Amino acid sequence: HNSLQQIDPEVSAILNDELHRQQDGIELIASENMASLAVMEAQGSVLTNKYAEGLPGKRYYGGCVEVDRVEDLARTRLKELFSAQFANVQPHSGANANQAAFMALAKPGDTILGLSLAAGGHLTHGAAPNYSGKWFHSVQYGVHRDTGLINYEEVEQLAKAHKPRIIVAGSSAYPRVIDFARFRAIADEVGAYLMVDMAHFAGLVAAGLYPNPLPHAHIVTSTTHKTLRGPRGGVILTNDADLSKKINSAVFPGLQGGPLMHVIAAKAVAFGEALKPEFKLYQQSVLKNSQVLGAELLKRGFDIVTGGTDSHLILVDLRPKKVTGKVAEAALEKAGITANKNAVPFDPESPFVTSGIRLGSPAATARGFGVEEFQEIGRFIDEVLTTYDTPAEAEVSQRVHAEVQELCRRFPIYNVAYP
Ligand code: PLP
Repeated sequence: HNSLQQIDPEVSAILNDELHRQQDGIELIASENMASLAVMEAQGSVLTNKYAEGLPGKRYYGGCVEVDRVEDLARTRLKELFSAQFANVQPHSGANANQAAFMALAKPGDTILGLSLAAGGHLTHGAAPNYSGKWFHSVQYGVHRDTGLINYEEVEQLAKAHKPRIIVAGSSAYPRVIDFARFRAIADEVGAYLMVDMAHFAGLVAAGLYPNPLPHAHIVTSTTHKTLRGPRGGVILTNDADLSKKINSAVFPGLQGGPLMHVIAAKAVAFGEALKPEFKLYQQSVLKNSQVLGAELLKRGFDIVTGGTDSHLILVDLRPKKVTGKVAEAALEKAGITANKNAVPFDPESPFVTSGIRLGSPAATARGFGVEEFQEIGRFIDEVLTTYDTPAEAEVSQRVHAEVQELCRRFPIYNVAYP
């Protein structure tokens, strides 16, 4: 058979270069992970050819016998993973899952209350440039200036003042446990729905290392590619039968057309992996490693927002080191470490510059890094950033890059030749 390399050497070369970039560098972007070859095999399968509008057993197309089986498997495994009664595995992404959840619960013009982007929330939780900020009356809560922790008093006060239709909990850069029971009590007090977006920490929830939002939320959304370590995609969960019907119609025909059956097959594989005991060990390591990295950086004079972490991510305030997030992201990339600049709460810098950097452990833990390696990473980051813009910069950057590559070679990932 003709390989990609023969048919399209140009694309093949790009894939190969990206493979090497992932193999040879340390990935610390908190929202990324390294899916298994089994997940990728399912995603790169003949299921990409199939139209399957509708749900298993109720499709608008023929020939859906096999894809029905795989979608059923994905739903059953997902429900088991989070002790949920209803699941929709069709959202193409986390943003789509959130949009479908909003569509199921609210109408344009309704009020929603979410964590602000500046305090670690996601764009889709009501940020001005996103549809969620344009189509709804968006009110945003934040975190305490002194502790960096969610300001629940503010949530309650805003909820009482604005009577939102939906309160959104969940975040992209909040390192601590969220008090879902407290959110639900506030929602009940004002007659709002509680929606929890667990995209970032879903893998930890699946492993029992972070509280499960399902007992508290009316609707839970997630991505499948972050801590959960599956293919890129979204899911929606609920324990409410009426809401589950509204969610299903919001996803299709409300928002999407044909589901991506190859991705749904890959989701099924990932959920199967997440049900295995090894996944719990992996998540324990994810949590331990982010805590170790946070402690190492604290020891080396960095400021960590909230002083530490209960999850896979830490938010580093770089101001004590006199570098911006933008500078740090570029300097680390030069040394073979990928991370993203991130605003810290009450950041005086613009979102393009920022005073912080967000670091996550899921991807590097997936290749086998443990406590020692994460301590090394703390040293690498410190050495690169403290010598930035000094005469030692180039030499240190090159040496750390060599050390990064050496470390990566000791923990190979995707050890297969790309065809
Ligand atoms: N929700 C949260 C909390 C996220 O952090 C993200 C992605 O960063 C999303 C939703 C959106 O997911 P996607 O990029 O798949 O649309």
